[in-house]
Amino acid sequence: MAIKITDDCINCGACEPECPNNAIYEGAMEWHWKDKTNLSGNVIFPDGTQKNAEDVNEAYSDEVYYIVPGKCTECKGFHDEPQCKEVCPVDCCVDDPEHRETDETLFDRQKFLHH
Ligand code: SF4
Ligand code: SF4
Repeated sequence: MAIKITDDCINCGACEPECPNNAIYEGAMEWHWKDKTNLSGNVIFPDGTQKNAEDVNEAYSDEVYYIVPGKCTECKGFHDEPQCKEVCPVDCCVDDPEHRETDETLFDRQKFLHH
């Protein structure tokens, strides 16, 4: 499953640079598919939808750092363990029960983001 950040986040910023997919953003900052991926221009996503990698997307949280589930691969394809979990000083990067995904899905996502 993807990882999520809880309200216990102290906004230290340690996790953001560790994410190989740039799935982590500071609270209130807008996010983009293109950030730290190979996606550019109009892209057909695995679910058949078309999006533009440069599109500006609204923050999922205004208060604390947040993770974009569609960019999180649990670090699969890069590291053995989720790097945000490893570095977070207050252990607020936790499994997200609303985004349970198989290893195959996560590896496919990693390939899609970095093809
Ligand atoms: Fe990024 Fe890995 Fe954390 Fe997912 S688990 S948000 S890919 S650092
Ligand atoms: Fe928040 Fe933990 Fe990331 Fe620091 S490392 S910004 S406390 S989620």
